[in-house]
Amino acid sequence: MQVYILDSSAIFLRKGLYPSMITVSKVLKEIKDVDSVNYLSLLDIKVRDPEVESVEVVKSAARKTGDVYKLSDTDLHLLALALDLKKEGEEPIIVTDDYSIQNVAKVFGIKTDSIVQRGIREEFKWIRICKGCKRRVEKGKTCPICGSEVYLVRVKKENSGENSGEKI
Ligand SMILES: [Zn+2]
Repeated sequence: MQVYILDSSAIFLRKGLYPSMITVSKVLKEIKDVDSVNYLSLLDIKVRDPEVESVEVVKSAARKTGDVYKLSDTDLHLLALALDLKKEGEEPIIVTDDYSIQNVAKVFGIKTDSIVQRGIREEFKWIRICKGCKRRVEKGKTCPICGSEVYLVRVKKENSGENSGEKI
């Protein structure tokens, strides 16, 4: 059976659209803003933590691929849960846009599903901005510079030049 494993950004971006969903308790701990907590409470999503040994297996694979420093504990747990489910004969699919998670998942033959829906031209993207210093933050929910909370902002994608061919 296909089981979709959601990472935190899948929750923040309201992608709880799958028939069978699961996540780890570390993701729940990252969901703190009231809107997201309310959203999460409406979802039919299971919570389960991975086996300790699976976390170690994932860590050692991530060391080999060079992703270990880019993966948070939460990321490692999501991957390890996928391993556990796979061992049990399920078909885990991790819902994430995190490149390092996708990379390590590939090592184990675990599928991933990009949060940005395929087939739809995305004109907007989400970026993280620090509430304190207004810096753009790549990862996590606090600013690495000033430690303030980070919020998501929808911005228009920079033009990649795809439309330039339209001119006559
Ligand atoms: Zn800051």
